[in-house]
Amino acid sequence: MRKTIIAGNWKMYKSPKQALDFAHSLSDIEPNETVRVIVCAPYLALPLLKEKVTLPLEISAQNVHQEEEGAFTGEISASMLTSIGVDITLIGHSERRQYFGESDDVVARKVRRALSHELDIILCVGEHLEQREAGEEESVVSNQLKAALSGVSKEEMKSISIAYEPVWAIGTGKTASSEDAQAMGSHIRKELISLYDEETSSACSLLYGGSVKPENIDELLAQPDVDGVLVGGASLDPESFRKLVEAGNRK
Ligand code: PEP
Repeated sequence: MRKTIIAGNWKMYKSPKQALDFAHSLSDIEPNETVRVIVCAPYLALPLLKEKVTLPLEISAQNVHQEEEGAFTGEISASMLTSIGVDITLIGHSERRQYFGESDDVVARKVRRALSHELDIILCVGEHLEQREAGEEESVVSNQLKAALSGVSKEEMKSISIAYEPVWAIGTGKTASSEDAQAMGSHIRKELISLYDEETSSACSLLYGGSVKPENIDELLAQPDVDGVLVGGASLDPESFRKLVEAGNRK
C-alpha cells in the first residue's frame, strides 16, 4: 500500500541550529505506520539533523547535482549526501527549474544519478499559469514525467514519489482546488500506467504542493489521488507542521 507523505520544503530558510530546534520541538509526533514525515532542509543543516534526529522525522536534501563529481563550484553530489546518511532528495522543484535553469534533460540526469546512489526521490512537476490558461497542463506534466523518467525501471520507480506543484500556486497563497489536484493526480496515475503498468502506478505516492496549510490540507488529502503534500511556507513553523502531520494521520 502506498504511503501518505507529509513533506516540508524549507527552501533557503533555517540555520542548522534553527533546524535542530524545529526537529526537537516535533520529537513527540506520532505518525501512523502508513505516514512518512519528511523535511527537506538546506544543505548546511543536513549533517546536524542526520546526526541528532531519528525517525519518525526523515531528512531530505532539496537538490542534488547530476554529475558524479567534478569542477562544479558550489554544488553537492549524491555521494556527498549519502556519505552523511541522507537518503532522500527533491529533484526538479520549479524554483530550481525557474531560477537555476534546470531543463527536463538536467532533471532526468539528476534522477538517474540519485537512483544510482539509492536515494529516494520526490520528483516535482507542474505547469505555469499561462500553460494552464491555455489548457496545456496535462501535456506539460506528461512531457515533464516522460523526460524525467526516461531510462527509469519499474524497480527503480519504487524509490520515486511525484509531487504535482502548479507553479502559479507556489508561495502565492493560491491553492489549486481539490478537484484540480485530484484531476492531475488521476492524470499522472494514468501516465504512469502507460509508461509502466497498473501495479507500478498504484504503488507510487502522488503529492500535491502549492500553498498547502493546516486549513486546506484535509480537503486535498481527501482526494483519492492525492497521497500526500509538499509544503513550503506552512512547514516552517513547528506547530503548523504538526497540524499537517495530524492531517496525514486522518487520511
Ligand atoms: C514548495 O516550496 O514546494 C511549495 C509548495 O511552497 P508553498 O507551500 O509555500 O506554496
